[in-house]
Amino acid sequence: MIRIAVANQKGGVGKTTSAINVATALAATGLRVLLVDFDPQGNASTGLGVDPGARARSSYEVMAGSATMADAVRPTAVPKLDIIPATQDLSGIEVELVDAEDRTSRFAAAMDALPPRWDVCLIDCPPSLGLLTINALAAARYVLVPLQCEFFALEGLSQLLRTVERARANLNPGLAIIGVALTMYDRRNRLSEQVAQDVRAVIGELVFETAIPRNVRLSEAPSYGLPALVYDHRCPGSEAYIALARELLGRLPQLAVAA
Ligand code: ADP
Ligand code: MG
Repeated sequence: MIRIAVANQKGGVGKTTSAINVATALAATGLRVLLVDFDPQGNASTGLGVDPGARARSSYEVMAGSATMADAVRPTAVPKLDIIPATQDLSGIEVELVDAEDRTSRFAAAMDALPPRWDVCLIDCPPSLGLLTINALAAARYVLVPLQCEFFALEGLSQLLRTVERARANLNPGLAIIGVALTMYDRRNRLSEQVAQDVRAVIGELVFETAIPRNVRLSEAPSYGLPALVYDHRCPGSEAYIALARELLGRLPQLAVAA
């Protein structure tokens, strides 16, 4: 199973939207996909229709050591896509684990114990570089970075790249960035265009060709508990996520074979 952390310490940049829709697009190719909601806000869980009452076992219990990952897995309405939901409890885990020796490696250990029932796992990280994101970076093989085309995008990106570098040096030597996905891209907006150019100038081919456009369908879908790709699979946002998933598979030959 290939593990991919979807990370960016800024909130509202499209992590959850990307995690849900890339996961759905990958599942549609026939891959068995697991999405781990690793944000106490639980937006990925809500966006995939998991009721708050159906989150008795969640990523919190996994991190607290009271449930295995396999215990916490739930199916979604999307064939071949399962989820480990999140609850608010997860926001307390940093404090609870402050003295735990394995506090950065707990999630990796829980992942290692998971039966090989999935081909790929996406981890939807919270908007910080705290312990949860560090656990995700310690457990993942790859990082997928959604980057909103706005003024401070590059500053945020360099901080994230430094964190990934540190995680690689100290926790997880195999960690690599699989790509940066430009999100909420607006072709008619000069700033969007400028940011996209600047980001490509700095990190070049790490940036996916596909930019995700600003599309209201992408923001409507979660209120129906559905991925945009199910809610309206022909909207520009859905089409872009299908293209992004295809590019991602192109960078993951080991997965493309399974798909
Ligand atoms: P994050 O997980 O990084 O905090 P989200 O994926 O939750 O970001 O996105 C933040 C908000 O922006 C949400 O309301 C989401 O529906 C909306 N959104 C995300 N991507 C797009 C897009 N391409 N076009 C329009 N709205 C978007
Ligand atoms: Mg989110």
